[in-house]
Amino acid sequence: MILVEHATVLTVDAERRILSDGSVLIDGRDILQVGPAPSVRPPRTPERIIDGRRRVVAPGFVDTHVHLTEHLSRGLMLDDVPVARYLPDWLLPLYSTVTPEEEAAAAQLACVEMIRTGTTTFCEAGTLFDVAAVADAVEAIGMRAILGRWTWDVGGQTGRLRQTTDEALGHTADVLAKVHGRAGGRLGAWPLLLGFGTGSEALMLGAKALAERHGVGWGMMHLALHPRLRTRDTTSVARLDELGLLDQRTKLAHMVYVDDADIARLARRGVKIAHCPSAGLKHTKGLAAHGRFPEMVEAGVCVSLGGDSGNGSNHFDMLRLMYLAATVYKDARLDVSVLPAERVLEMATIEGARALLLERQVGSIEPGKRADLVLYDLDTPEWRPLLNPVNNLVYAASGASVRTVLIDGRVILDEGRLTTLDERALYDRVERLGREHVRRAGVPIESKWPVIR
Ligand SMILES: [Zn+2]
Repeated sequence: MILVEHATVLTVDAERRILSDGSVLIDGRDILQVGPAPSVRPPRTPERIIDGRRRVVAPGFVDTHVHLTEHLSRGLMLDDVPVARYLPDWLLPLYSTVTPEEEAAAAQLACVEMIRTGTTTFCEAGTLFDVAAVADAVEAIGMRAILGRWTWDVGGQTGRLRQTTDEALGHTADVLAKVHGRAGGRLGAWPLLLGFGTGSEALMLGAKALAERHGVGWGMMHLALHPRLRTRDTTSVARLDELGLLDQRTKLAHMVYVDDADIARLARRGVKIAHCPSAGLKHTKGLAAHGRFPEMVEAGVCVSLGGDSGNGSNHFDMLRLMYLAATVYKDARLDVSVLPAERVLEMATIEGARALLLERQVGSIEPGKRADLVLYDLDTPEWRPLLNPVNNLVYAASGASVRTVLIDGRVILDEGRLTTLDERALYDRVERLGREHVRRAGVPIESKWPVIR
């Protein structure tokens, strides 16, 4: 048993209680009791007591759309590379040459970044080739994750990147059989499609059928249509609905261009959305001008947050994603009431859990749920004074105040020290593998400013 006592606890429970002197009792992987400190009574002496008097305890964030592999080439692309050149000139050469060792190292780097910024659960956009290597890496670090093989079947990919419909569905069935339920249920697997016009209707329908058979969700990237946007992503939300592809198992990432009828459809069908504000802004997807995420939230659509990719957002820091989600639309609409901090914190926690069909296990601090907790250090300037912890968390906090992280009841970050991995060795490995990977792909490492060696 672990007892965290006398902390400020943001429960995000049904009543959204904030306990100013609260305790959380953890038994094994589960939360046993939560409440005002005097009411939490361990049935036996806990093995560890964590003094929470100078800590805020919040549910671990749930990041619903990350590309693990691209972390190994993070920051490679210069700002003024035209968006249309990303795939042919950079991403496809990188994607097509990555090795299992590199995919695993990228996953480790991504996991460490997420843990150190308060994320405890994530869903991958899709591993390129070796899900088993990625699953081993994620399992060893101790994160909770939904993994899967990235699939597509149209779009003219060649060589190692080519997949037929049957191959794509076969890869997915294989991962569902081998990865789903691993690590005592901490690792899940879903059918994951690249989307953006690279999946046939047969692939989408096959993915959904596999998801139903295994009782899991399925995910795809979808921009939705905009008349002025040149995109291969030509399947409308209405068409997806006609095909029977929209229901509570469906998670769609990005989803910038939707109209009122689309929003009503998404709400009616219980579709889950991964909103990726940092990547949307940097990739000039037109978020501020066209994004309808506040309206989706208003209509009852489950909108969660995603960090996206190493050259899209360049980071997987949910604290910064929350800040953007809470500010971009206020400014765009000239309305301070749009997406308040409380709503955005829900997007990063309980709505993220709903998006991954994990709301009975994570996303809030409640008895019976898994103990996925983040302890923020109040001895940091950003948290003081502690007049409104929600505002401090959404608008002021940075990863620098993340001191201790528990996942599945296990202390993964202990007073700033990672317990499951040698971080220094990882950074050395990533530096070496990242350079080898980029060189092998034949992509130049460029700088606009002279680099003196
Ligand atoms: Zn993405």
